[in-house]
Amino acid sequence: MAWKNVKNHKEILAEIYQTLYDAFGPQQWWPGDTPFEIAIGAILTQNTNWGNVEKAIGNLKRRKALSVRVMHGMDNGKLAELIRPAGYFNVKTKRLKAFLTFLLGQYRGSMEDMAKNGTPFLREQLLEIHGIGPETADSILLYALEKPIFVIDAYTKRVLQRHGLVKEKTSYSEMQGLFQDRLHKDAQLFNEYHALLVRLGKEYCRPRPKCAPCPLRSFPVVTRQVKPEDRQFRIQNDMSRVRSA
Ligand code: SF4
Repeated sequence: MAWKNVKNHKEILAEIYQTLYDAFGPQQWWPGDTPFEIAIGAILTQNTNWGNVEKAIGNLKRRKALSVRVMHGMDNGKLAELIRPAGYFNVKTKRLKAFLTFLLGQYRGSMEDMAKNGTPFLREQLLEIHGIGPETADSILLYALEKPIFVIDAYTKRVLQRHGLVKEKTSYSEMQGLFQDRLHKDAQLFNEYHALLVRLGKEYCRPRPKCAPCPLRSFPVVTRQVKPEDRQFRIQNDMSRVRSA
């Protein structure tokens, strides 16, 4: 059973948001004291968990190195040592340096100056920086610069796919459009929604899903990835939630 022709995506996305917000409450993302710290965290969190990023940022703070000019002027080996807990530290050092060079060159090192530009222009600029892909660029735009853009990550894709809202091959920009074209374009809403999906993915919608206690347990699941024993509820129950369009 799919959502198709039963309920439109706008209603479904609104309902998912409300259900998650009611279950989890506000998530108050992104953890970080300044827009610059948030941007650095967005680069460091690639391919690692947040706990490791916190250790790396803690190292930078203890050395009083969490500033554009200090980090930019630092020897690569020294910077790599400080961010070592975040993993892939040599690769990430190069990515950080590329971002810092961009920030200094284009905006005199000021995230506030950067934020004065429009979202499409900034996104293009960020995507040209070595090692910054769509998810990192959008995380910087949304969480550091408070621009209304939806971040898509593996958690979001997994939830959407399992509930039949996207397909395996749906692209990043199509998934992003699913949210941005149907929800009020509001940075706070996009911030909260994405944070709620991440929490959902970490606690329930794991590779082996825990559907029975999950807040979205009564929403139709359409994928074979989710076995009946994971769901522990019957498709007929799902149907009762779905009304004709
Ligand atoms: S754990 Fe199950 S019910 Fe929860 S979001 Fe994932 S597939 Fe849906």
